Amino acid sequence: MTERLYPTDSATVPVAVETPRHSSVSGLLDYTSEQPLAPGTLVRVPLGRRDVPGLVWEAALDGGTAPVALRPVTLALSALPPLGADWRALVEFAAAYYQRGVGELALSVLPPELRKLDDTQLARRLKRLADHPAAATADAPADPPLPTLSDEQAATLAMLATPEGRAKPVLLHGVTGSGKTEVYLRAAADALARGQQALVLVPEINLTPQLEARFAERFPGRVLVSLHSALTPAQRLRHWLQAHLGLADLVLGTRLAVFASMPRLGLIVVDEEHDPSFKQQEGARYSARDLAVWRGHRAGVPVLLGSATPSLESWQRVQEGRYRRLAMTQRIGGGAMPRVRLVDMNLLPRGTQERVLAPQLLAAIEKRIDAGEQSLLLLNRRGYAPVLHCGACAWKSGCPHCSAWRVFHKLDRTLKCHHCGFSERVPRACPDCGNLDIAPIGRGTEKLQEQLAALLPNARVARLDADTTRAAGSLQQQLADVHAGEVDVLVGTQMLAKGHDFRRVTLVAAVNADGALFSSDFRAPERLFALLMQAAGRAGRDAEQAARSEMWVQTWHPTHPLYAALRQHDYESFAATQLGERKAAGLPPFASLALLRAEARTAEAATAFLHDAAALIDAPQAGVTIYPPVPPFVARLADVERMQMLLESPSRVALQRTLASWLPQLNTLRAAHKGLLRWAVDIDPLAI
Ligand SMILES: [Zn+2]
Ligand SMILES: [Zn+2]
Repeated sequence: MTERLYPTDSATVPVAVETPRHSSVSGLLDYTSEQPLAPGTLVRVPLGRRDVPGLVWEAALDGGTAPVALRPVTLALSALPPLGADWRALVEFAAAYYQRGVGELALSVLPPELRKLDDTQLARRLKRLADHPAAATADAPADPPLPTLSDEQAATLAMLATPEGRAKPVLLHGVTGSGKTEVYLRAAADALARGQQALVLVPEINLTPQLEARFAERFPGRVLVSLHSALTPAQRLRHWLQAHLGLADLVLGTRLAVFASMPRLGLIVVDEEHDPSFKQQEGARYSARDLAVWRGHRAGVPVLLGSATPSLESWQRVQEGRYRRLAMTQRIGGGAMPRVRLVDMNLLPRGTQERVLAPQLLAAIEKRIDAGEQSLLLLNRRGYAPVLHCGACAWKSGCPHCSAWRVFHKLDRTLKCHHCGFSERVPRACPDCGNLDIAPIGRGTEKLQEQLAALLPNARVARLDADTTRAAGSLQQQLADVHAGEVDVLVGTQMLAKGHDFRRVTLVAAVNADGALFSSDFRAPERLFALLMQAAGRAGRDAEQAARSEMWVQTWHPTHPLYAALRQHDYESFAATQLGERKAAGLPPFASLALLRAEARTAEAATAFLHDAAALIDAPQAGVTIYPPVPPFVARLADVERMQMLLESPSRVALQRTLASWLPQLNTLRAAHKGLLRWAVDIDPLAI
C-alpha cells in the first residue's frame, strides 16, 4: 500500500466513519478537502447533523457510495502522523473477518481521548512527549547481568534467530517454570538491538505489573509502556502516542494492545496464548491471539506464542506444519513437576463423602503447615454457597431477572446474581412460606475458607477471588502476604492458577473439578486441563521443594482419560485424544463456527428472528450447516431473553462468504421483528 496523497484540485477524500454496525452506511464516505490528506489521517467530518471522528482511508475499499452531495472535512488532525499502512491493513482485515464496519472498528480501538482533542492541543501533547521521551528512566544504570540460559532456552533462541525460525509463527510449548519469560526477554532484546519495537500480550491486567517489572529491570533506559483497560484515559492516550510515534521500545498489554500502532514493530509475543481472555466478548469479538498471528505474518516479524497447554487450534496448526513448535520440557533448576494424586471420592467411607476434604488430603495439608510450607486450594465458585434453599416449600434463591440462582455471600449477608449483578439482603425467612430455616446448598470459596478455618484452627487461611480483590491494590497486598509467608492455606478461584510465582507452595488441590468433564461446551475439558496443569505449576517453583510437591484432585471419576493424562503431565496425549474427538464430531479446529445471537423480551420473538434469518440462507448450496436456535447457558439475563443459532462449515472461506452476504440482510429483517432488541454475530465463538 502506498501513502498516496490526494490531489488538491479534485480533492475527494474517502473517510471511514463510525456508523452503526450493519447499517446502510457501513462503508466509506466521500468528503472534500482543500489540502491533500494522506490515508491514516484522523479527521472530523459532518454526518447528518453531527460532527463525527473519522479516518482518511484508501479509496474504493468496498465500493462505498456517498449518499449525499460531498461536504468538506471539518477538521484534520495534521499534527498526528497518519496511521500506517500495516495498521490500516490489520484493521481492514479484522473488520472484514469479524464482520464489522472499518470505521467502527478503527475508531473503537483508538484511545477515546484522541477524539476530544483539536489539532493545537494534540500538537502540544506531541511536543511534550518528544521533549521528555523517557523521563522515568533518565538515570539509566548499566545493563544488568544476564542469567545463564538453560540448554533448552539456548536452543530455542538459536532456532528463533534463524530464517526458518522467523518464517512461521512459533509455538513455544514450555512447561510451567521452564523459563519462557527469559526467552521473551531475549527475543525482545534482539528486536531492540535491531532498532525495532516489541509487542508483548498477556491475558490479564493482573499479570502486567510483574511482567512490566521484569522488562523494566532488564531494559533500563528503554521506554516501556503498557496498554490495558485499567489505565486512566489520559494514561492510555499517552502510552498509545508513545507507541505510535515510535518513542516506546516495548509495549506490554492485554488484548486491546494488539491494535497498538507501532511503526517499528519487530516482534510479537503472546504469552499464555491458550487463554480465553484474548477473545473480546463484545463489539467486534476479535481474537487478539489470531490477529497477532495475522499482523506478524503481514509485517514479516516473528510471532512467539507461549503456553504450557497450547490451545488445540494452535496445536493443530503445528501438526499441519503451519506453526513451528519449540519445546521446553524441563523446569529451570531441574525441579520435577509435582506428583499428581487423585482422591477417589467413591472410596471414602459412607457418611464422610460430604466432607469438604478427604481425610488424606487434610492430613497432607497439615503436614505442609507443620513444615512451614504453603498450600493452595482451588474451587471455581466464589461466594459462600451457590444457592439458598427452603426445606419446607422448596423455594430457591433464584434471580428475578435471570434464569440463574443468586449466590449467597455470607460476609455481607447478600444474595447476588453473578450474571446481572442484582443484589439483595438475605431474607430473614423464606419469602414464599415464612419458614425461618432456609439453608445454603453447595459450597463456594467463602464457605471453603470458613470450613478450613474450623478444621485447621492453628492455620492462617486466606482467600483470593474476585470478591477479595475488588479494591484497588488489594490483589497486590494479598499476594505480598502470601510471599511474606503470612498465609498457610490460600483458598481461591482460577485466579490462583494464573502466573503468580508462589515460592513456598508445595501442595495444590482442586477441591471439586469434575463439573467440566460432562459440560455441554465442547471446550470445557480443554479449559479444565489447562487450568489444572497451570495450577499444578504453582507448586514446587523452588527446585529443592519440587521433589515433594503435589497436586491433589478430588474426583468422583478417577478413571477419566483427562485425569490419566494429567497424572503423567502429558499434554500431548490429552491433545491427541481431544483432537480425535473434535475431528470425529466436526468441531473446531476442523470446522469454523459462527454464532448468531438474538435478544428480545420473549424467547419466542428471539427464536422467530433466528428462524427467519436461517431461511435467508440456502445452506447446502452455501456449504454451511445451520443448527436450530437454542437458549445459551443463562437464557434470561437482566430481564432479556436470549437465543442463539450456530452456523458451522468445514470451510472457513465458505462460512465467511455466507456471512458477508447474509448479515447485511438481517438489518432489513430486523425491521419486521418488532420484539427484537438486539442481534449480534460472534465469529469463532469460544463458548457455545
Ligand atoms: Zn419456604
Ligand atoms: Zn440476575
